This record gives sequence, C-alpha cells and structure tokens, in this order.
Amino acid sequence: MFDSPLGDDVYGEDPSVNRLQELAAEVTGKESALFVSSGTQSNLLAVLSQCDRGDEYIAGQESHTYQFEAGGAAVLGAVQPQPLPFNDRGELDLGQVAATVKPNDFHFAKTKLLCLENTQTGRVLAMDYLADFARLAAKHGLRKHLDGARAFNASVKLSINIKEICAYFDTISICLSKGLAAPVGSVLVGERTTIEKARRLRKMLGGGMRQAGILAAAGIYALENNIERLQLDHENAVNLANNLCSLPGFKLLEEPQTNMVLLDLPQERFLALSAWLAENDVTVSGQRWVLHQDVSGDDVQRIIDLCTLFSSRTA
Ligand SMILES: *Cc1c(COP(=O)(O)O)cnc(C)c1O
Repeated sequence: MFDSPLGDDVYGEDPSVNRLQELAAEVTGKESALFVSSGTQSNLLAVLSQCDRGDEYIAGQESHTYQFEAGGAAVLGAVQPQPLPFNDRGELDLGQVAATVKPNDFHFAKTKLLCLENTQTGRVLAMDYLADFARLAAKHGLRKHLDGARAFNASVKLSINIKEICAYFDTISICLSKGLAAPVGSVLVGERTTIEKARRLRKMLGGGMRQAGILAAAGIYALENNIERLQLDHENAVNLANNLCSLPGFKLLEEPQTNMVLLDLPQERFLALSAWLAENDVTVSGQRWVLHQDVSGDDVQRIIDLCTLFSSRTA
C-alpha cells in the first residue's frame, strides 16, 4: 500500500485503482469493475444503476440488500423492495418469485431486478439453482444482481472458478474487506454500460475518492493472495463446529458449509457464555461466529478450550 502508485481516481487516473478494477473484471469474467467504499455502496449502486424510480427489486427478507442497508434503494432511488423469505438453503423459492413478479399494470411498481446472496449466511447456493434462477429471470426479462460479499467462499467450497457463478448474474458485488481480508472496499462488476452508470451514481453519493489507490493496493493483494486460503477458514469452522457440538449444553443451528459457525443457544445461556469469554479476553458479538484470516488455528483451539471449560462448569 505504501509503495503503490497513486493518482486522482475521480479523473480515472489512479493506476492502482485502475489495476484493481481490471483485475476484478478479469477474475470474475465481466467487462468492467468499479472500486467502491463498501459492500453497502456496491449493492446500492447495483440497484440504482439497474432500476428507475417506481421500479421494484425482489430480494430475501433476511438479505443484506434489503435488511441491513438502511433502506437506501427506497430512500435514495425511490425503488421499492419486495422481500421474500429465504429457505434453509439460502434460496428464494422460484415459484414464489414468479408469483411475485408484478404484471404490467399501472397499479403496480415495475419489477426490474432479482437479487440473491452467495454465500447466504455461510450457505452456498447450488449451481443448478443458479441456472434455474437465471432461466426464470430471462423468462420475465429481469436483471439479476448477486450480493457476492462472500462469493469467493462459495467458489472455493465448490472448487470452481468464480466466473462460473458470476456468469449467471448481470452485476456482482464482492467485498474485499470480509474473508479476503483487505482493510476497506468492495468491487461491483458487470457490463460496461451498467458500470458507467454506477460510476456516475457513485460520484453523486460522494463515493468518488481521490488517491484511492492506497486502498486499492490492498484489494489487489487480496485478489492475488487471499482467495485459496479461504479453505483454511472453512477447515477452522468445521473444527470449531465439531468440537462445540460434542460439548454438553452446546447446540449448532446447522453444520458449517464455509466460514460461519452458527450457534443455537437459548439467549440467557449465550449471554453467560459471552460473559465468560469476555472475562478471558475473547469478544463475541452474537451467535454467528465467522472465521477469517485473523483467526488462526491456535485461536480456534483457545475458543474450544474456553467453551469446554464453560460447558463442564455449567451444563
Ligand atoms: C458485509 C456484507 C455486505 C456489505 O458490507 P459493508 O462493506 O459492511 O457495507 C453486504 N452483503 C453481505 C452479505 C455482507 O456480509
């Protein structure tokens, strides 16, 4: 980052940002990419660049795009969200989606865009499902966006090239700052015309950053070095889960597929556990424990040891 060549990215003149964008487009098999400040901004730009005022996007009730982005698409774009529940595989039911796409009638908002999330809370969407999803979208003439904050966790889990996942979507947002371990930033990828619209909207949102190459440099490093190692996070998650679920008084929601261990403890018991962990200098913020580069195998063993002690004292 310190040595990265810098320029003014508002003029498209930052060599490091340009290189990151070229790399992101190449890796995902898309025409174009835009470096943005966050995953939230990236998802917002995806909706705003593909929907107009009075349009609608369909997304999961529990999706980041709908639930965790302060209603940005509705507030800033006058785009109506139509949430639907995810099933326990992290999918939208395609029959339900088809029944929810609005007919062309002036009473209704115009359905324009379908959104999925992969991984969805650590769950990997099956490639067959993505193919069916894309067919449904094509049948109704809809655009497709993937919140791929953790899309590389999915491709690593399936041992496939991420291009295969991205091929089913018009736009994909990928976080550099989650499992890929860069300090800041996301990329939005897609065809050139959409990304150029997103660039204008990014400026409007105040997201045109001048010497952003210092941040892009970390993104380049992440894409070049931190993808294959996601496998280690997945192994750490399995190790943690296997050990926890053998402890009396511990329960998991499901087996981890990628880098998340989902606990399923009564709230009171969870609070007692987190207090015990805090006493031992381990902070947990909820029952979703996410493995990443900065949680080592030794760290995982320490958590297992602490949970074992907690279990033996309280179960
Ligand atoms: C973290 C996350 C985002 C957005 O991330 P920010 O960079 O924090 O805005 C979007 N979608 C999913 C699924 C995420 O986990």
